[in-house]
Amino acid sequence: MIQIEDLKFEEFIPENNILNRVKEISEKINTDFTNKKPLFLGILNGSFLFAADLFKHISVPCEISFLKVNSYINTESTGKMKELIGINQSLTDRHVVIIEDIVDTGRTLQYIFDTVKAENPASISVITLLHKPEATIIPVKLDYVGFEIKNEFVVGYGLDYNGYGRNLPAIYIKTKD
Ligand code: 5GP
Repeated sequence: MIQIEDLKFEEFIPENNILNRVKEISEKINTDFTNKKPLFLGILNGSFLFAADLFKHISVPCEISFLKVNSYINTESTGKMKELIGINQSLTDRHVVIIEDIVDTGRTLQYIFDTVKAENPASISVITLLHKPEATIIPVKLDYVGFEIKNEFVVGYGLDYNGYGRNLPAIYIKTKD
């Protein structure tokens, strides 16, 4: 059991299970992207450890770049606005592989997907370490999923609670109490 600020968490997915799954996904990517020179786009901050571990096992020629989604409240309207920053190379005609940490409602991924699509890539694939199917309300195409999990709050291996917990090598889930 660990405590981060006011919340308690218990270990949920051990480090070894994560690393084995990451390796399996990398091997699938190596088969699926032979001769395609994929361009990986890691979504910061949450995917930085996942993207790094995955990338170490990619053996086909490839590139990686990192993007960040900024969410802010638009003072002119009530809607929450999103902005994707960091696209500083051409995605046109590239086989783009988005690397996400977790898909919850699917809103963030849909926004990223649409923004990438507008750049006319040859293809777009999505890898997510975690997916909460019960929480997903936007139908998003997930090509590679590390683990499907229940609709509970998790931290570790890049994911945070109020900025903390990203350094934990395993994934932890919030306790019921
Ligand atoms: P969505 O737009 O799919 O609802 O949410 C995606 C984002 O919400 C993720 O990139 C992540 O930042 C955050 N998120 C959703 N569920 C969790 C969770 O269980 N733990 C943490 N740490 N972040 C989450």
